[in-house]
Amino acid sequence: HTHEYIVSSCLCGEKTRYDGKVFIDEKIKKLVDDNKAIMVCPEIMGGMSIPRLPCEIQNGKVINIASDNKTNYFVDGAIETLKIANKYGIKKAILKEKSPSCGSSCIYDGSFTKKLIPGEGITTRLLRLNNIEVISDEEFRII
Ligand code: SF4
Repeated sequence: HTHEYIVSSCLCGEKTRYDGKVFIDEKIKKLVDDNKAIMVCPEIMGGMSIPRLPCEIQNGKVINIASDNKTNYFVDGAIETLKIANKYGIKKAILKEKSPSCGSSCIYDGSFTKKLIPGEGITTRLLRLNNIEVISDEEFRII
């Protein structure tokens, strides 16, 4: 099989979200079931635990709600995700919108008040810098 996409694991029923909630996007899960997509969770691959405190990007750093700097975990997870994409020759990703790792159009503004701003997560940025196309689950749902 040729895997065409990497996808955020939390869109496919994997319990990897920060809040421990489980969610399934049937259209994206079908890609995995059909061996067209490989699941990744950059934050777990970077060493974060489940559940974990919410994190947002502030001035290029990833900070949790208790003001701890978690940037290194997010960078490590982005690098691991890129390695997987490269290993399988994957050039497209469908990642969870709004996440400080996976967001591709908008992210929270760093104030922990649920305010969204245009922007991208740490993993999305690294993938795009390496010529991997990243779209969100929300975009994929309507194409
Ligand atoms: Fe989902 Fe990405 Fe957050 Fe992992 S890092 S839980 S894949 S949004």
